[in-house]
Amino acid sequence: MSTGKTAAETDTQSPTGEQIPAGDVRTEYEDLVEQVRKHRFAYYQEDAPIISDAEFDELYRRLETIEAMHPELVSNDSPTQEVGGEVSAAFAAVEHLQRMYSLEDVFSLEELEAWIAKAEAGVAKIGNGNNRPSWLTELKIDGLAVNLLYRDGVLVRAATRGDGTTGEDITHNVLTIKEIPQRLSGTGFPAEMEIRGEVFIPSKAFAEFNEALIEAGKAPLANPRNAAAGSLRQKDPAETAKRPLRMYVHGIGAREGLQTVSQSDTYRQLAEWGLPTSPYFEVLPGLADVLEFIKRYGDKRHSLTHEIDGIVVKVDDFATQRALGYTTRVPRWAVAYKYPPEEVHTKLLDIAVNVGRTGRVTPFGVMEPAKVAGSTVEMATLHNQEVVKAKGVKIGDIVVLRKAGDVIPEIVGPVLALRDQQDPPVRDFIMPTECPACGTPLAPGKEGDVDIRCPNSRSCPAQLRERVFHLAGRGAFDIEALGWEAAIALTQPAEPETAPLTTEATLFDLTPEQLADVRVRREKRSKGVGTGEFELVPYFYTKATAKTPSKPTATTDKLFRELEKAKAQPLWRVLVALSIRHVGPRASRALATAFGNMDAIRQASEDELAHVDGVGPVIAQALTEWFAEDWHRDIVDRWAAAGVRMADERDESTPRTLEGLTVVVTGSLEGFSRDEAKEAILIRGGKAAGSVSKNTSYVVAGENAGTKLDKAEQLGIPVLDEDGFRELLANGPAATGDADGSSDITAEADEDGEDRLEDHSEAAAQ
Ligand code: NAD
Repeated sequence: MSTGKTAAETDTQSPTGEQIPAGDVRTEYEDLVEQVRKHRFAYYQEDAPIISDAEFDELYRRLETIEAMHPELVSNDSPTQEVGGEVSAAFAAVEHLQRMYSLEDVFSLEELEAWIAKAEAGVAKIGNGNNRPSWLTELKIDGLAVNLLYRDGVLVRAATRGDGTTGEDITHNVLTIKEIPQRLSGTGFPAEMEIRGEVFIPSKAFAEFNEALIEAGKAPLANPRNAAAGSLRQKDPAETAKRPLRMYVHGIGAREGLQTVSQSDTYRQLAEWGLPTSPYFEVLPGLADVLEFIKRYGDKRHSLTHEIDGIVVKVDDFATQRALGYTTRVPRWAVAYKYPPEEVHTKLLDIAVNVGRTGRVTPFGVMEPAKVAGSTVEMATLHNQEVVKAKGVKIGDIVVLRKAGDVIPEIVGPVLALRDQQDPPVRDFIMPTECPACGTPLAPGKEGDVDIRCPNSRSCPAQLRERVFHLAGRGAFDIEALGWEAAIALTQPAEPETAPLTTEATLFDLTPEQLADVRVRREKRSKGVGTGEFELVPYFYTKATAKTPSKPTATTDKLFRELEKAKAQPLWRVLVALSIRHVGPRASRALATAFGNMDAIRQASEDELAHVDGVGPVIAQALTEWFAEDWHRDIVDRWAAAGVRMADERDESTPRTLEGLTVVVTGSLEGFSRDEAKEAILIRGGKAAGSVSKNTSYVVAGENAGTKLDKAEQLGIPVLDEDGFRELLANGPAATGDADGSSDITAEADEDGEDRLEDHSEAAAQ
């Protein structure tokens, strides 16, 4: 039977048995080759990528898959056979003495495991007596590869990787990097030696450099990798000299007369000669340790001095490296494990504004949903109109979206190369002049404050919604049943006239009856999938059926139980719940400790407030201004009348064992939540700090303690486990075996400070 296809279009079968029509594959293949070439050019030659690395890696992998299934398509000049990079005419071309390679990438731990198993099998086959290689495991620095040629200990040339054989001569630029020795120290250098390493910009220096650019009215650089590459490929070395470049050595090329026998041994030798080697490598016996290394650095990758995009695992021993050899593109003795991408490209569909609980109007980007650092992101704050301007983003742009670990997602900037192709065309963001929630004309902030605010703080429904959401938060009244959706239902239901709350003053007077008619707009679903149609449904009550009348839901019952419980919260939490500008948990605790009850705080003069340790003039002014408003005082009075506790009973029975001590708790403890641990420290007269410094008396380290523990060890600060912490709480420093646990006390920034809290609630609100 004829398939109607020519011979050239005959179907082929993939190794997995998949039928692939040859004609379609060839077209896809040629298209992929062209795209990979185009993107490599933009990335390596212009230091201005058009797509994200993750998207590029996907294209590249697809190309590899097609080649694996159709080896007949692979030509010598396929991108998979080349080290990606070229030599620009702007620089002199120089030949490396020994070829420079790229690295094979793996994107999951399973792939890494398979790679290591295969490499170990390869090593066993070679049978050179070293059946189980040791793995030199190190950080994959996100920078630009360079090749340094030293003759008799003197730096004679520096080049980019280029296509692996020929690179660009960037000697003059490299000479401006102080860390790279022009002359090696010591003796015994090989006659000729090529040092390979990565030039990078440390994260902090990058942020500072970008801030300076923004201040000078220039566009910020997209990321440290592109910035390092662009800096090193400047035509004017004086320009390179202004960039905060550094380098770490990670390899060696030609090495005539070098006596070392392994990668680690070589790093030691190179460091002795004054070359900058990375402090972060370890030689590990097998997979389990490598996986642990990957996890460890995955957890702390954002507190390192430079960006990393993965971990490189190399056979340590040179003889085994030689025996395994190279493909045309990569060594067979090394692999790069890539962490999930933290930067992706997506479309900025709109810039909308959100009104925060203190009236601040914040623009935020609405994007096509994008997966980044393990979560799907579709909104990101843009802070204020100055930031929108500085980032140069327009509605409709393709933007770089970054999410570093737990940090909130950030729109880095536009991909300018794609701006002209957008349909509809991109447009500028214009800050509204009226509050989108209540229509009140917006007012600029006080002098020096770039924020624009809605002045209608009393009745703006958006501000009320944010305040209600905030007061229920874990750092305030801790009312779990009052989440974001419930806050909307209470303040902005589908039918505004049914809103149970028009002020938070009546929160504790709510009755179940008041909630009976509250309905919200919800998308209809069919078999769990949204239909695009909307309906109004009761929020706090169940839907009535023919048999059962409508009644409060279980969550609504819980809400009333929690409201009752919240009335007994300590004074500092009540203060946090009031949404007074700048008054977060730290200031609230200080105020509660100093005054003991709400009346005393209300009656205190601005000066008295300012003199409280941990308060200061800004917070004092905010407090006085807040209490000057009738409707604010009304909130306090109504809450008090409803039974909210407005004074702390001092529990004299708890001994003040931690008087004068500063304690930092890090990681998770079994018997204490973060708040409980803090509370336990404070009621015993200690200070609970958020960061470790030389003034810290003790660090309490629980499960998964991170960089704070490292810092404590560096500074020699006593570290306690949970049992030690209990001892300390019960009996003070003498009990911990570190009798002199005292230290100078300075007010340290509390990590739960108001700004973060506000950011948090507003980010959650979006
Ligand atoms: P690679 O970055 O995946 O790995 C090889 C390079 O890693 C080496 O050349 C070396 O410079 C560097 N490296 C860093 N730390 C190292 C260490 N400790 N030991 C050894 N080498 C270390 O490969 P590549 O070929 O340079 O580039 C591919 C990367 O560039 C991918 O991440 C890809 O996504 C990105 N890329 C992106 C685009 C784009 O359009 N966005 C285009 C091309 C390439």
